[in-house]
Amino acid sequence: MKLTDTVTKIPSIGPSYEARLQNLDIYTIEDLLLHPPSRYIDFRKVSNISEIKVGETLTVRGKVDFVKNQFTKTGRKMQIASVSDDTGSVVCAWFNQPYLTRTLRKGAKISLSGKIEKFGYKPAFFSPDFELGVDATNLHTGRLVPVYPQTEGVTSKWLRTKIMLAHKKMKDEINEFLPGNTLNSLGFPSYQEAIELMHFPEKLNGAERGRKRLAFNELLMLNLRSLYKKIQWRKRHTKHTIEVDDEKVGEFINSLPFELTESQSRSIDEILSDMTKKVPMNRLLEGDVGSGKTVVAAAGVFACFVRGYQSVIMAPTQILAQQHYKTLKNIFEKFKLRVFLITSEGIERDIGTPDVFVGTHALIHNKVDFDKVGLVVIDEQHRFGVEQRAHLTKKVRGKLTAPHVLTMTATPIPRTVALTVYGDLDLSVLSELPKGRKPINTLIVSERKRNSAYKWIKSQIRERRVQVFVICPLIEQSQAETMKQVKSAKSEYEKLTGVFKGFRVGLLHGRQKAEEKNEVLSKFKDNKLHILVSTPVVEVGIDIPNASIMVIETAERFGLAQLHQLRGRVGRGDQKSYCLLFTENAGRQAKTRLSALEKTLSGFELAELDLKLRGPGDVFGVKQHGFEKLKIANWNDTKLLNISRDTAEEFIRNKKKYRSLFDYLETRRMIAN
Ligand code: ADP
Ligand code: MG
Repeated sequence: MKLTDTVTKIPSIGPSYEARLQNLDIYTIEDLLLHPPSRYIDFRKVSNISEIKVGETLTVRGKVDFVKNQFTKTGRKMQIASVSDDTGSVVCAWFNQPYLTRTLRKGAKISLSGKIEKFGYKPAFFSPDFELGVDATNLHTGRLVPVYPQTEGVTSKWLRTKIMLAHKKMKDEINEFLPGNTLNSLGFPSYQEAIELMHFPEKLNGAERGRKRLAFNELLMLNLRSLYKKIQWRKRHTKHTIEVDDEKVGEFINSLPFELTESQSRSIDEILSDMTKKVPMNRLLEGDVGSGKTVVAAAGVFACFVRGYQSVIMAPTQILAQQHYKTLKNIFEKFKLRVFLITSEGIERDIGTPDVFVGTHALIHNKVDFDKVGLVVIDEQHRFGVEQRAHLTKKVRGKLTAPHVLTMTATPIPRTVALTVYGDLDLSVLSELPKGRKPINTLIVSERKRNSAYKWIKSQIRERRVQVFVICPLIEQSQAETMKQVKSAKSEYEKLTGVFKGFRVGLLHGRQKAEEKNEVLSKFKDNKLHILVSTPVVEVGIDIPNASIMVIETAERFGLAQLHQLRGRVGRGDQKSYCLLFTENAGRQAKTRLSALEKTLSGFELAELDLKLRGPGDVFGVKQHGFEKLKIANWNDTKLLNISRDTAEEFIRNKKKYRSLFDYLETRRMIAN
């Protein structure tokens, strides 16, 4: 048996358990041994029966005197047992577990753990954990008992048994793969010891020591993987070397209706400098909503165009692709760039050969010729799967060549996390918003105040001629828009046409035809609609500067990241903007989250806060953004993130010195070769 064997190699784990374990991401024996407890119950105190006291959590060991079924006054079936040791006896009671009368035979040795309660006047155990055969090593009682995350058909108790079994058989196979001096200098236990500490700790801080070592392994692998990817990418050559014509690009930048922010200029410099190199660019442009990523990408597109090369820009939604198409046509008009729009609805084109392809993922499948493509831009990259991104680049890339790739995201991932998750990419950050933006006022509005809020909105539309977004209630958390969601949007729309009589209200949702969507959006953009009711899925990227009131229904249901994105739809023009968070019944935690939104406008600050507020693995919508869920480590363990990053770099730098380590990792497929 090997650690890398599937779990079915363990006696008594068959195909049905194999399938269930996959829900916990457990495939191999090693995965099973790395399944971390979510907590421990302290059953370490072992007591004589004569000394037990009500309220204590403890363990007693003795023999079963008797067990019988009994009915309660209310007719429920109870199982009553008596257990005694040399000092006395104690009653144990269970409900509705008739099989116990067969399991607990008279005279059997038993170990019981639980909290002592009162039964009549006497101390007793209610539904204690127990195991038979006191002489055996205690597993479910009498120690720090680990509680594991369970899944349907797999209980924590079952996991405990199997993990013990696997550990017993395999513990000598758990070989250290880190060099001794690394272990020493970091003060970590060995791999083998760490696994033992996690499942069979004697003390809580021992368990933590084990967990930390294993968390380090996990982060180290992620870091090694991204550094590896970086190395692989760097082996490629650019498909087309682009000699940037600074003068022409300068002309383009001067033609823009605004001055670039400092970080926009810096990012453009970084991008253009990448593009002149032989190694293709692989850069992530990270910038909060409204920070102006589009023009930064446009500068790269323009630099390509000047040298006769094409660019591709992929956006996650039809609406966004359409918007980019219009924006680019507009800013490139003077320079006569030909922009093509490719979506599932077909191609919208200028006459002649295209200079820029804008589109949705339809770009991947469309039979356009990408031979002259020098730059690929992927907007809101977290919205795409890894596969889709790879597909698009592949379409443009040869075996040893690749286009320059610029990915863009508004997810303000804390730097430490970004370095691990996107360690293969170079990072450009837009750290400030364009000048002249007025801060958005964010207000939580309770149900009681709904009518006065509507009244206020009406007066705002009349007096300031502002436009209003209304995001309808979130029904289900889902990437694709469900029918339920569309229905809710429709009913919200109908309701609001009633509330806002005399005002023009429009509706936008994902199931509309592209034409319909465009019509509504153009009307809204041209200020022919006062209010646009929309589903939450259209949150990304829409840019309508005159819209300056954002109403979000059932705000408590949204994640902070999503709310921040939605709010970013307003405050883009020179008007004072407001974001009203309507809540139905927000709990305390939800209120804390929402009031954070009232207090800060910075996506980065919100991300840090989210990191503190939420449990492991769900940083600022980590799941939503599709990066890996951590099994043992936490994204908010900045110190460990840094250590693992540094160690990974040290290993990669001295690959020869650590040859055996890399061999080990490669055979485990822990890192791709
Ligand atoms: P995002 O980073 O969210 O994609 P966009 O690229 O859509 O932001 O830009 C948001 C708005 O800001 C657009 O209307 C754009 O024209 C405008 N904008 C971009 N850069 C500047 C700037 N330097 N000064 C003023 N307005 C800008
Ligand atoms: Mg954008």
